[in-house]
Amino acid sequence: MSPSTSRPGSCPAYDAIIVGAGFSGLYLLHRLRQQGLTVRAIERGGGVGGTWYWNRYPGARCDVESMEYS
Ligand SMILES: Cc1cc2nc3c(=O)[nH]c(=O)nc-3n(C[C@H](O)[C@H](O)[C@H](O)COP(=O)(O)OP(=O)(O)OC[C@H]3O[C@@H](n4cnc5c(N)ncnc54)[C@H](O)[C@@H]3O)c2cc1C
Repeated sequence: MSPSTSRPGSCPAYDAIIVGAGFSGLYLLHRLRQQGLTVRAIERGGGVGGTWYWNRYPGARCDVESMEYS
């Protein structure tokens, strides 16, 4: 279901706006859409994933020293 726009040029109307597309925001987006709501998620980063987007170490197997962590 797409957001409703009553007049040409007016802002689309959403049932919910989600700030942040980390795991919480993505899951909430999924659940609210499952309920048939029109939802928009806004993310300030260039991609989704939140912590897992911002804390990436290409090539590193583990982001801490301790081998117990991996
Ligand atoms: C380095 C690190 C390692 C971790 N390791 C683990 C682990 O191994 N296991 C575990 O369970 N948890 C771990 N965590 C905890 C992790 O934060 C949570 O698991 C989970 O990813 C949190 O998801 P979130 O969606 O609640 O928040 P976040 O992942 O923080 O997502 C919030 C998003 O909101 C966006 N945002 C914030 N303000 C705005 C705004 N005003 N406008 C637009 N966008 C905005 C941010 O850019 C971000 O993308 C770790 C955390 C860190 C920092």
